[in-house]
Amino acid sequence: MAFYRITYNEKYNFATLHNWGCTFRCPYCSYKLRSGAEGKPGFSTPKPERFLSVEEQKSVLKKLAPAKVFFMGGEPTVASELEEMLCFAKNELGAETKLGHTNGSRLPLPFLDGANVGFKAWSDDLHLQITGRPKQLIYDNFQKAFDSGMTMAANMVYIPRFVGLDELEGCVRFIASISPEIPFHIDGYIPVPGQPYCRPTDEEMTAAEQLVKSYLVNVKSSHLTSEQALDLSARDDRFRVKIAAGV
Ligand code: SF4
Repeated sequence: MAFYRITYNEKYNFATLHNWGCTFRCPYCSYKLRSGAEGKPGFSTPKPERFLSVEEQKSVLKKLAPAKVFFMGGEPTVASELEEMLCFAKNELGAETKLGHTNGSRLPLPFLDGANVGFKAWSDDLHLQITGRPKQLIYDNFQKAFDSGMTMAANMVYIPRFVGLDELEGCVRFIASISPEIPFHIDGYIPVPGQPYCRPTDEEMTAAEQLVKSYLVNVKSSHLTSEQALDLSARDDRFRVKIAAGV
């Protein structure tokens, strides 16, 4: 696939390239919040009518001249032009480059400064069940990316009685063994259409935070309702962006 939209945040001077598609099939994928695609596994939003050419992407970025270029999805590493755009952002714009969200399937990458990896589970079986892919590649890639000097961060969706505290603990124990200072975000599950899972209670979120903080020092969490998740710009000005190209 390819990037179909570029957004720009003037206040923080960063541009984001958005890709359509993903290699995983997580049943609770939050992209379903907008598409309402009940019953379909994974990333299920309508295919954009048009993708941006590489020339368009470069021309828009040149005009914006952002200090940072982020790549998002779905899963941004699915975009066939990603490596070319990383090289352009780094060498021609002199920008910092980061995968704002990735499932960790392709790391490290040339000209990529940082990545925020969304881990799905610690148990092999649960990881396979959720994503359709084995877990080991993702954890190995995270280690390799850190060892290569990339600035790494991680997150996991906490879903009591599905992706529970034992899954969270296995993951953060692994991250702490690399460095306890790696930032980690606990995403309280946001209910998506057609899924049976429950949003964590306040008490469950507190227990999850206490657990993760016993391993890591830079821990944040979010505990949004579905309605709040649909308007993140009301809570965080990093989401107040204008569309610079695409739809
Ligand atoms: S990896 Fe992320 S984008 Fe892909 S299906 Fe899972 S939650 Fe959705």
